[in-house]
Amino acid sequence: MDSERILTKLRSEGYEISADYEGADVVVVNTCGFIDSAKEESFDAIKEAMNANGKVIVTGCLGVNEAAVREVTPDVLAVTGPQQYENVVAEVHKAAPQPHDPHLHLVPEAGLKLTPRHYSYLKISEGCNHRCKFCIIPSLRGDLASRPIRAVLREAEKLVEAGTQELLVISQDTSAYGLDLKHATETWKDKEIRAHMTELASALGDNGVWVRLHYVYPYPHVDDVMPLMAEGKILPYLDIPFQHASPKILKAMKRPANDAKVLERIQNWRKIVPDLVIRSTFIVGFPGETEEDFQYLLNWLEEAQLDRVGCFKYEPVEGAAANELPDHVAPEVQQERWERFMEVSQRISAAKLQKRVGMEMAVLIDSVDEEGAIGRTYADAPEIDGKVYLKGATEYAPGDMVMAYIHEADNYDLHGYVVIEDDEDDDWDW
Ligand code: SF4
Repeated sequence: MDSERILTKLRSEGYEISADYEGADVVVVNTCGFIDSAKEESFDAIKEAMNANGKVIVTGCLGVNEAAVREVTPDVLAVTGPQQYENVVAEVHKAAPQPHDPHLHLVPEAGLKLTPRHYSYLKISEGCNHRCKFCIIPSLRGDLASRPIRAVLREAEKLVEAGTQELLVISQDTSAYGLDLKHATETWKDKEIRAHMTELASALGDNGVWVRLHYVYPYPHVDDVMPLMAEGKILPYLDIPFQHASPKILKAMKRPANDAKVLERIQNWRKIVPDLVIRSTFIVGFPGETEEDFQYLLNWLEEAQLDRVGCFKYEPVEGAAANELPDHVAPEVQQERWERFMEVSQRISAAKLQKRVGMEMAVLIDSVDEEGAIGRTYADAPEIDGKVYLKGATEYAPGDMVMAYIHEADNYDLHGYVVIEDDEDDDWDW
């Protein structure tokens, strides 16, 4: 992740990370400029840093539009765009001269991480070749640029050596990985390996830790990762940002892989991987969405039985092509549809969680306090999905993997207790 790269570089040069604004020589604010609410949050963070410290460097998506940043906060020291690590570092050098005698050995080999040590985000590519009408990411981050497969696998190996138990594969379009490299072959551990999602997933699975795929579009070759899930190499979990189901709206959105047969594909995947968990996000109230289109989406959702679902009301984004589309949906209609959507998706998700009651499941512990431990099963990604509360399990540490008996489920989370592991019983539900 961008912040981690900047921090790693600065730490390698001997800079210290300050816990508060007051103790810092300079503050770097990494921003998001995608939707309006994220922009506002970014501006708030810049203003807060300016008030508290006064020496601020702005980077990230919002930095693409320096004029807009300077209009709100004219006195920031510098504004740089996304992925401009070197520029950020150069600006830090100017604002806070480099300490003498860098202690390179103080930086862990896998770099500094902002996420807890036991799970790590693994970015496999930047940018995107699609042009969804509601999105400005391609104009901010450019076309798809995949990292060479050896570099990704080397990073994964280092992360695992440094204690990572779970690799979260991220990108803007994971299914497209390697397309820009023409799926070039490289040698990894005496074997030839192609820069392709399936081969990458398989090789990551060789690390013996949880591997979770995010931002997968349902192209036909996604079928090929099902056997990897069935044999336990990667988690039976897919994060697919469907955004809608109505063919008309998907077309209007210019969404990739908007094949009308996707329901059939999901059913086939579940035949191969019965435990498969699918998480997704949707947009309701996209320009031109009629009641009929929305009803199509609700019916589709009932059929698809997705496990974890997020839903957003369509919001115009500065510079997005969708702004020019006719028939914008009134806010009160958007709200009403959002509520109806959430009712259906929550009912499905709650019913699915109820089915976990009575199971024994592997739980990766994320945090522990005086009441017990909180963790996740394979079905939940950190920060976006649900949790498992293990009351009284205070003797564990983040990163521990335990078996838990699930005795209760609510709308989003599970509750359980740690069971004594029986070495002879390998029959775990993940
Ligand atoms: S696939 Fe569409 S929504 Fe996702 S980054 Fe690319 S253009 Fe944006």
